[in-house]
Amino acid sequence: MNSNIKQTTKSKLKTDTVFYQHANTINRFAMSFEVKEKDLLARIGKLKTKTATIETPLLFPVINPSIQPIPTRRLKEHFGFEAIITNAYILYKRYKNQPIDQTLHKFLDFNGAIMTDSGAYQILVYGNVAINQAQIVNYQEQISSDIATILDIPTGWHVKKERAKQTVAETIKRAKVFFKQKTRNDILWVGPVQGGKYLDLVAKSAQAMRKLPFPIHALGSPTEVMESYRYDVLVDMIMTAKMNLPPDRPLHLFGAGHPHMMALATALGCDLFDSAAYALYARENRYMTENGTWRLEELSYFPCQCPKCASSNPKAVLELPKKEKEIFLAEHNLHVCVAELKRIKQSIRDGRLWEHVEMRAHAHPTLLSALKRVKDYRDFVEKYSPATKPSGLFFFGAVDLPRPEVVRHEKRLRENYLPPENVKVLLLTPQTRTKPFQKSVEFKKIRQVIARAEQNPSAKKVHVCFYVAPFGVVPIELTEVYPLSQHEAVTPLDQETILHVARQVGDYIKRANYQSVVLINDSENWNSTIQKACKAACKNKNVPFVSLTTKVFDRKDILTSLENILKNNLSE
Ligand SMILES: [Zn+2]
Repeated sequence: MNSNIKQTTKSKLKTDTVFYQHANTINRFAMSFEVKEKDLLARIGKLKTKTATIETPLLFPVINPSIQPIPTRRLKEHFGFEAIITNAYILYKRYKNQPIDQTLHKFLDFNGAIMTDSGAYQILVYGNVAINQAQIVNYQEQISSDIATILDIPTGWHVKKERAKQTVAETIKRAKVFFKQKTRNDILWVGPVQGGKYLDLVAKSAQAMRKLPFPIHALGSPTEVMESYRYDVLVDMIMTAKMNLPPDRPLHLFGAGHPHMMALATALGCDLFDSAAYALYARENRYMTENGTWRLEELSYFPCQCPKCASSNPKAVLELPKKEKEIFLAEHNLHVCVAELKRIKQSIRDGRLWEHVEMRAHAHPTLLSALKRVKDYRDFVEKYSPATKPSGLFFFGAVDLPRPEVVRHEKRLRENYLPPENVKVLLLTPQTRTKPFQKSVEFKKIRQVIARAEQNPSAKKVHVCFYVAPFGVVPIELTEVYPLSQHEAVTPLDQETILHVARQVGDYIKRANYQSVVLINDSENWNSTIQKACKAACKNKNVPFVSLTTKVFDRKDILTSLENILKNNLSE
């Protein structure tokens, strides 16, 4: 047994390790993708290639050896990039045997991991390439890429479904043939998923690819989707691929590397990105930021303190000779990408990736639309998100309702929860600023009222549940379960959130079997929506319902009324 395999198997026992091993190949080489940290569908992982072990999420800067603005060696030494990507088809066309004779790593002067694309992008732009798959597979083996790609057919954006079908069928056909063409087992081959905006085709493509022992998958043709600012469609594409691919294989989002969308894509489970944009934008005077792109002419100040921007200003850079300006912008663009990736990784560690994605989503309406689209996939995201986190939740509004923690509480309450036995009355009380809620000053007074109404303290006939944004119903005995007391919500609440909580309250009443329901209706924060939902649910169940409406619910007269109502309900 290879020592790499042993080592990885051992660490599997210790940590939450995902280990994938080429199933149908001779195990002279073991590839491992080991997950260290998770948040949402994002993961910080270690991907082992034959040259280097690289940390994901990772961005490969795209290298074009003929017009490279920044020396490749500098990318590692100055910026810390552990890996780069270049195009095998361009190498083949322009340099033929040179990268074979020198080896790719020497040819590119880069001692980290090198990924090669096969020419698929050229197919998308120029229609076809003068090379077949056997040749490009063989070439990538000869130059000794660390990660390499089969010659897939990208679907693209402006295509009819018939054409999209053909690209998927041909890519699957080539993927199957590929396993007879390859001769080396130490290269990590990428199995691309195509289908474009046709989600049924993306699903079909991913289902076919998952059956083949590719150690890495990639989602093709997102570039044009992003250029049209259809980030909502991108969410659909990524999620469809994710739901149909093995979760333990890393996913590369081809042609995506703008810092303003990396947080969202990472949160949806993309592990690898590549960016040609840093250099292409630099050529066109475009300045990237984590919130979008500016033209250099538009800037009076640099909103960045990278080593380039800290010592210059937009006017001075505009006056630089063309080549110098391009290098300045390319370096700045890369610094921004690196900084954003670090923030994303720290957010994963802190369990605050959702908050980070939400912050980025507010940079552009199309990004916020995309975040809203996550609602359609909330059950899947919940299923694979970690159950506990090192931090509490910030709840800003209705856009946060699909958060896995909210979905999980709703699901657990619906599927696994039963109220304590023998309780007769459901007392619904509003959330308090203090958490856990039962330790608040207001609730302590209510607790005394309940004790007086119950008379016999061991009887416990009144069951208290809090109505809480964004979670809905929180039974008193669960208030200290994470994250029901570890969150901060914005007040006043928005109506969509209030409606969501009201729906939860109504459903809860309908599911449970209380003999009566009493609501302390906090009209200050919740208007009359909760009250209406309770009334409708009680009518549906044919259960008596009483509501006490107040802005200050620990007022003396309210407490007296509550005591009388509870006594009355308990005596029936
Ligand atoms: Zn900068």
